[in-house]
Amino acid sequence: MESVTGRFAPSPSGRIHLGNILCCLLAWLSARQKGGRVVLRIEDLDTARCPRRYADQMEKDLRWLGLFWDEGPTVGGARGPYVQSRRTALYRSALEKLEGQGLVYPCFCTRSELHASSAPHREDGQTIYGGACRNLTAAEIAQKAKTRSPALRLRVPEETWGVADGHLGSYREVLSRECGDFLLRRSDGMFAYQLAVVVDDAAMGVTEVVRGADLLASTPRQLYLYHLLGLTPPAFYHFPLLLSPSGRRLSKRDADAGLDALRDKVAPEEVLGKLAYLAGFNPSAEPKAPQALLLDFDWEKVPKTDIRLPEKLF
Ligand code: GLU
Repeated sequence: MESVTGRFAPSPSGRIHLGNILCCLLAWLSARQKGGRVVLRIEDLDTARCPRRYADQMEKDLRWLGLFWDEGPTVGGARGPYVQSRRTALYRSALEKLEGQGLVYPCFCTRSELHASSAPHREDGQTIYGGACRNLTAAEIAQKAKTRSPALRLRVPEETWGVADGHLGSYREVLSRECGDFLLRRSDGMFAYQLAVVVDDAAMGVTEVVRGADLLASTPRQLYLYHLLGLTPPAFYHFPLLLSPSGRRLSKRDADAGLDALRDKVAPEEVLGKLAYLAGFNPSAEPKAPQALLLDFDWEKVPKTDIRLPEKLF
């Protein structure tokens, strides 16, 4: 049987919260249950928002929880570095491959042009690029480049791309209509998540990606990139999001759902046991270590709709 490699790929823009922990736990259980390996990759491309200290703290928090990994920033491994800000040469070479296929073009649109109220929107609220820079002539590009450095976009076809998600089932998009030409590099030179995540998951031998349902809509774009770059895509499992008791999406600003507040008052097994119970794969809220949760874990038990946290968690 082909060996399984799972991963956690957090963006350390704050202290981890229960949603991130559920993500790590599910990725860990899903891979370990198949005898697989786990990679930790720090997604800090937005270096201004992801200072190093948060990444260090994140590793400490994950170790405290007992969610150990086989390859990662401090443990090392053959496929590092495991920090995206140190992998830009790989993204550049993938970008060159796409450029070589004639699929990349510079986009000079300003933020306000992109977010104009007339711009079509995706179901997830993001705007679909209208294509203003899609067919600029070389002379127009040279002219615009005098005053503005461009972002780079991938020209997408009128084709349906999608995924048979291991948990949420089929998700498909007609790229040209429902997604639009998407960013590969921002105008300030920062590589886009969509490109970096594909390059890294492939280079790190990842065979299964477990992440929140908010990223399901990124999957068609990513599969198209795997195809263009000649890479083998992993299996995908998207899980429902954790919501605050009032029904909002959890964010790193929700202090009481963050580990800052929790580490002082509860044991790691209490956090994991309770989360696993809320996510359907611990029969009671009884405290449990990750190894013990392996016995009951089954994707079939995980709900398919968002999970609201109770008012009082502990
Ligand atoms: N770094 C992303 C995040 O923290 C996750 C990316 C992924 O799992 O593909 O939201």
